[in-house]
Amino acid sequence: MIYADNAATTKMSPKAIQTMTALLKEAWGNPSSLYAQGQRAREILEKARGDVAAVLGAEPREIIFTSGGSEADNQAILSAAALGRKKGKLHIVSTAFEHHAVLHTLDKLRKEGFEVTLLDVHENGIVRPEEVEAALRGDTCLVTIMFANNEIGTIQPIREIGAICRKKGVLFHTDAVQAVGHVPIDVRADNIDLLSASAHKFHGPKGVGFLYARKGVPVSSLIEGGAQERGKRAGTENVPGIAAMAEALGEACGQMAENAAHLTEMRDRLIRGLSGIPHSALNGDPVYRLPGNVSFCFEGIEGESLLLLLDDRGIQASSGSACTSGSLDPSHVLLAIGRVHDVAHGSLRLTLGEEIGEAEVDEIIKAVKEVVAYLRSFSPIWRDLTLGKKEYIL
Ligand SMILES: *Cc1c(COP(=O)(O)O)cnc(C)c1O
Repeated sequence: MIYADNAATTKMSPKAIQTMTALLKEAWGNPSSLYAQGQRAREILEKARGDVAAVLGAEPREIIFTSGGSEADNQAILSAAALGRKKGKLHIVSTAFEHHAVLHTLDKLRKEGFEVTLLDVHENGIVRPEEVEAALRGDTCLVTIMFANNEIGTIQPIREIGAICRKKGVLFHTDAVQAVGHVPIDVRADNIDLLSASAHKFHGPKGVGFLYARKGVPVSSLIEGGAQERGKRAGTENVPGIAAMAEALGEACGQMAENAAHLTEMRDRLIRGLSGIPHSALNGDPVYRLPGNVSFCFEGIEGESLLLLLDDRGIQASSGSACTSGSLDPSHVLLAIGRVHDVAHGSLRLTLGEEIGEAEVDEIIKAVKEVVAYLRSFSPIWRDLTLGKKEYIL
């Protein structure tokens, strides 16, 4: 079995599992309780906060633990919008290829009177900082642009975008769920005001994440209740999950350079192999992309059939994001980089894990080549293309 869908979720690291299971038994107290069992849980919670903050160059009090990336995205955007509304600033800048946790929150704000400018991400899947600058207006309250895209893996010029926002006095949020633990991030140097992350994308548990909010940026709580997380997130903290997240993040950051070097080599080997398939194309920039991300379009086939046949051969991949699979609409990300519907339907995303080796990469290449050829052998669209009734796009 080859698991190549690490952008959907990752397997928990053995150390994170060990931390979590041990703490489920030992640190079951409520961190808000004043007696010893509560204080033991509090210590673990605050140690995790310090550890998470340290790897991002943040201060512990700038970290708010959440239930994951979606909640952090919602909280960041809704907090900035609430501030904007107070000041009569109802304009937000984002991109067309954000995660739905961002796009659907922006849809909600549109209905409440906000105006949203979605920037072009161009054919290479990268936002141009000068276009961010040009989109800013006197009434812009927030720029929200993802650090790395979850489907095509492209990495955005976050530091430059952050510098522009800082200069213009506009809040800058980045959905860094795919980037945290995988590429270097320093919230100060990168000029980030708000950042979202999720543990299960870096070998931590599901249902845990965090929001970084630079001190001085007032964040409002999405959930009414107790005064946990300095009043910014009500509800008793998931202490074992949070500690396991901190453990996984520490590991991921400690091995980042090594992991990235290995994954980049495997990624580029896979890209070279798949590029040999006629009428195919890599999605997104070949260089400014996550170390483990390979995304392709193959003309004349259905991505869903490709996935099922790869699964039969023990290869688990994705045709887009886990959230869009199951619907017949092609991925909004592929449409955003200018892929036409027909081509976008024939997509495959392979997101590699650190355990992958050359033998597995070569097995994937062989399987994809054979399955694509097989599917094309009875595809009506492919037939029209080969007969010259239709023009090849790729
Ligand atoms: C997975 C993901 C999310 C959602 O995170 P959850 O913890 O699953 O809620 C948000 N943004 C991006 C870019 C993601 O990849």
